[in-house]
Amino acid sequence: MMRLQEAYEELVRRMREQTLLSSCAELLGWDELTYLPPGGVGHRAEQQALLAGLYHEKATDPRLGDLLATLEGSDLVADPDSPAAVNVREMRYAYDRLTRLPRDLVEEEARLTSVAQQAWSVARANDDFARFRPWLEQVIALARRRAECLGYEAIPYDALLEDYEPGLRTRDLVSLFDELRRELVPLAAEVGDARRRDRAAVLRREYPLDRQRIFGEAVASELGFDFHRGRLDTSVHPFSTLIGPGDCRIATRYALHDFGDSFFSILHEVGHGLYDQGLPAEHYGTPMGEPVSLGLHEAQARLWENTVGRSRAFWRHFFPRARQVFHESLHDVDAEDFYRAVNHVAPGPNRVRADEVTYNLHILVRFELEVAMIAGDLRAADVPTAWNEAYQRDLGITPPSDAEGCLQDGHWGDGLIGYFPTYTLGNIFAEQLFAAASREVGGLEEQFVRGDFGGLLGWLREKVHRHGQRYRAPELLKRVTGAALDSRPLLDRLHRQHRELNEPT
Ligand code: ZN
Repeated sequence: MMRLQEAYEELVRRMREQTLLSSCAELLGWDELTYLPPGGVGHRAEQQALLAGLYHEKATDPRLGDLLATLEGSDLVADPDSPAAVNVREMRYAYDRLTRLPRDLVEEEARLTSVAQQAWSVARANDDFARFRPWLEQVIALARRRAECLGYEAIPYDALLEDYEPGLRTRDLVSLFDELRRELVPLAAEVGDARRRDRAAVLRREYPLDRQRIFGEAVASELGFDFHRGRLDTSVHPFSTLIGPGDCRIATRYALHDFGDSFFSILHEVGHGLYDQGLPAEHYGTPMGEPVSLGLHEAQARLWENTVGRSRAFWRHFFPRARQVFHESLHDVDAEDFYRAVNHVAPGPNRVRADEVTYNLHILVRFELEVAMIAGDLRAADVPTAWNEAYQRDLGITPPSDAEGCLQDGHWGDGLIGYFPTYTLGNIFAEQLFAAASREVGGLEEQFVRGDFGGLLGWLREKVHRHGQRYRAPELLKRVTGAALDSRPLLDRLHRQHRELNEPT
């Protein structure tokens, strides 16, 4: 028995060291996106490659395999929901996957993506896809090599998807996404009528940047984001990252004539941050202290950004304050106008700025192209054409340039293939979670109108955050909502909310 306890303690110590190492990489990554001068890129790539290599060495140490073998099947892990059992289960999963990846591949991925990220950023700034093309080819080649090393059931893309949403398969997504496309394309056409008065024009008035930041921070705080254990910074692309317990970094960008871009990015990243701040700190460094999956993380972000942040109740509470802060721009606007403005549907080329109805269509295009690239059915050189054709087909528009089309997102330059679908999964999970919270907590809308968001956050903390990786996403969803992955709640709300908004006033 003593030997078991010792083995488990050594396993935990090793897990913590791994997490500390990856948190160093996270901090360097945060710096890359916020303050790193362009001249430091090459050196940073070397730092990241070294850390990735060290991490890989630790995470694939045969000693871990021995410890896991000792612990598996023992009394210590008899209760499958206990922290020890969860940690052993998830460490085994990670160990088996990582030991299939050779160290040179992992280092090459880290090195390539640091440089490809910069190449993407230059290509986008110059609207020059040709500059990014060779890097995209290398990213795809490495992703295919990764998939071959990891192994897969049906097609190589399955292996990449598994990195972000364990257990989910490409064919599941194809049918789920087909259902979304079938309903969202006509809904967008119906409620996104470009000839109608542009209700969002009010969001493009002047919003002084420093006041946007102050207002955003105040709202973040009121929703429950703890600034003693977190920061909000400025970056080119909004993001959030957990450095460690007590240090959660979120970042956004500000534009003088675009209130929605930064405000909803802040809500989104705050949603991620609330999840990170709600993870059980006592389990930090082990799977019990880690988020379940990317899709479930994204669900936290989407829930606060959209389901809460674009609701009438939310703006009934926050609009009077917004009108004080931005008096010059909002003195002739009321809460209902503003609610309509933040829900204006207008198909456009940009994913991050997209309204809720068309957002998932942007993801569906990326998913389709990624699957085709990994399958070898689409060459990098043909991406701009394929991208524009898909946008014309699903959103009825053609992006005016590659910078605003296939170069708009940094994910591919970052080596993140298989990541995009988690955004739409997040939207689906979010709506299922919110529906369950509404049933169980009750009166959420009245609470939001009063500025009370603690009921919802408390429910999420209790049902989702505090469990870390105790349950895999499908099981957690089942326990919390009583249902499997289901796009119905999302589609139903979008139909209901946008048809009502579209009625003549
Ligand atoms: Zn997100």
